[in-house]
Amino acid sequence: EAKTKGRNAYQFFEPGLAAGVLERLMMETALRGAAGRGELRLHFQPQIDLRSGALAGVEALVRWQHPQLGLVSPAQFIPLAEEVGLISEIGDWVLQQACAQMVAWEAQGLRVPRIAVNLSVQQIEDPQHMARVAQALAHSGLAGARLELEVTESLIMRQPEQAQRHLQELLSLGVEFAIDDFGTGHSSLAYLRRLPLHRLKIDQSFVRDIGEDSGGEAIVHAVIALARALGLHTVAEGVEQPHQAEFLRQAGCDTVQGYHFGRPMPAAQLLERWLDAPARAPSDAAPAA
Ligand code: C2E
Ligand code: MG
Ligand code: MG
Ligand code: MG
Repeated sequence: EAKTKGRNAYQFFEPGLAAGVLERLMMETALRGAAGRGELRLHFQPQIDLRSGALAGVEALVRWQHPQLGLVSPAQFIPLAEEVGLISEIGDWVLQQACAQMVAWEAQGLRVPRIAVNLSVQQIEDPQHMARVAQALAHSGLAGARLELEVTESLIMRQPEQAQRHLQELLSLGVEFAIDDFGTGHSSLAYLRRLPLHRLKIDQSFVRDIGEDSGGEAIVHAVIALARALGLHTVAEGVEQPHQAEFLRQAGCDTVQGYHFGRPMPAAQLLERWLDAPARAPSDAAPAA
């Protein structure tokens, strides 16, 4: 390979490494300004109440519509955005867009009870963050209680005291908090207990084990029991199969999210699917015509 290319700088690198470095640089350059160029998109994944079948909320998940690469998944660009200091800008865009979308759906006749937005550690360390959340709520007119912020165990445990203070401050806006991917990090129950949490999201790796591995099933039961003891609701992630949903229902899980109930989708598609959807909470049901 190097011989045929002649003597140039690239032959000093492993071909794979050079490609990786170059790709990263190109991605970073393109990602700067992606928000400004209007290349970010939000998709929304339904969260379903297991008792009633009603839409309990949605999770906002960002995508990057790159002119050449197509729709880039957050798993590919969020870690990069975090590393190069772009996550606050992207996170702000997500927050504003998510709050505005809730109000837009409502104007279209669909009331989505709650929207969940993922936070990165750099965001909660940003002194401006509290003001940004307040601004997103004020601009949209969305009630704080309908916004849920998702944090991971590693985010909390990096600087537990600071995270606790920040969440307490945000709590004054009325927002709620969920621990994402619960069970995969190394959090201390002593710290978790002190946080103003509302929900534990059971990681999809445990949901995948349902029906396959009794150890995984035992973890699901244990997380639900722990959540109950702490007075928290549970959301199971990555529910792809009906038998997983049934297991979770019997285990007392409150809410489910996963491909079985709907993939992350554009706002218009969520509206189409849930506007006048037959599945409603019994108390919400219209009298029979
Ligand atoms: P997450 O917050 O744990 O989101 C759940 C991920 O699981 C999403 O991947 C979703 O599409 C995927 N998923 C949902 N149901 C199923 C299922 O039934 N089976 C399988 N196999 N997967 C399912 P996605 O959208 O690619 O997002 C990946 C991660 O990127 C998110 O994990 C979150 O950590 C991060 N992320 C996404 N949007 C944002 C954002 O706006 N800000 C930040 N900071 N991170 C974000
Ligand atoms: Mg999440
Ligand atoms: Mg998750
Ligand atoms: Mg995750």
